Amino acid sequence: MDIQFLGTGAGQPSKARNVSSLALKLLDEINEVWLFDCGEGTQNRILETTIRPRKVSKIFITHLHGDHIFGLPGFLSSRAFQANEEQTDLEIYGPQGIKSFVLTSLRVSGSRLPYRIHFHEFDQDSLGKILETDKFTVYAEELDHTIFCVGYRVMQKDLEGTLDAEKLKAAGVPFGPLFGKIKNGQDIVLEDRTEIKAADYISAPRPGKIITILGDTRKTNASVRLAVNADVLVHESTYGKGDEKIARNHGHSTNMQAAQVAAEAGAKRLLLNHISARFLSKDISQLKKDAASIFENVHVVKDLEEVEI
Ligand SMILES: [Zn+2]
Repeated sequence: MDIQFLGTGAGQPSKARNVSSLALKLLDEINEVWLFDCGEGTQNRILETTIRPRKVSKIFITHLHGDHIFGLPGFLSSRAFQANEEQTDLEIYGPQGIKSFVLTSLRVSGSRLPYRIHFHEFDQDSLGKILETDKFTVYAEELDHTIFCVGYRVMQKDLEGTLDAEKLKAAGVPFGPLFGKIKNGQDIVLEDRTEIKAADYISAPRPGKIITILGDTRKTNASVRLAVNADVLVHESTYGKGDEKIARNHGHSTNMQAAQVAAEAGAKRLLLNHISARFLSKDISQLKKDAASIFENVHVVKDLEEVEI
């Protein structure tokens, strides 16, 4: 499982940072890629990665500001031009209005897609668990921005323990149907009366990962709730230390506030994105250094950077 950042800038693109988008790559888990936000130019960034647009099965939108959604019509149209590839449906989750934005831009531009889009719109009253599959559950909660904006908490379900085949062979269990029984937790007795306790041959279940991806927001308790015990928290850092007042006025956070959220939530790792173009590279190291005084495991991400979870 990896996160690849496609755009890490705030508001408008700069040479170094495109506007918001990131890909949660779940290729080993479910052979899918989930996009979070899709700012203008996201499809160009994807061209610089190994991500195949057809693998993008779900898109989660945090809010309807242009720097988070203007890449949708282009991406959706290009996704249709995957020669010789099967056309797979796509799900879009986002605030009410996202369906009308997408359908209007496709209609007025005369774009016809050979696959179907299923929209899942929500508002303040229909948040909470927005998706559950056999492997993942996704929750959304409202943040505190200048328009309705949400954060997402992606929870992988616990992974079953694995069977230690070598140990079973060493214990004299013949390879075959007995392996299946033991895998299902059944104890067995071999012909020589050796008892095989399934629990001794199956590793303990591993807890699933928790990934929290927030949209633009002031510091709010909702961010902390979404990030409780997260393996990774992706948090905006539009402003730096000392900019708390201006951040509040514009509906954003500073690096220090993001670090406080990570600390209060007991997250394991904090990735700062949504970085203003006015920060030069020396300022970026300062952003990290200042935030690290509150939460040590912090990193300011770059476009195209890939982070293993
Ligand atoms: Zn915004």
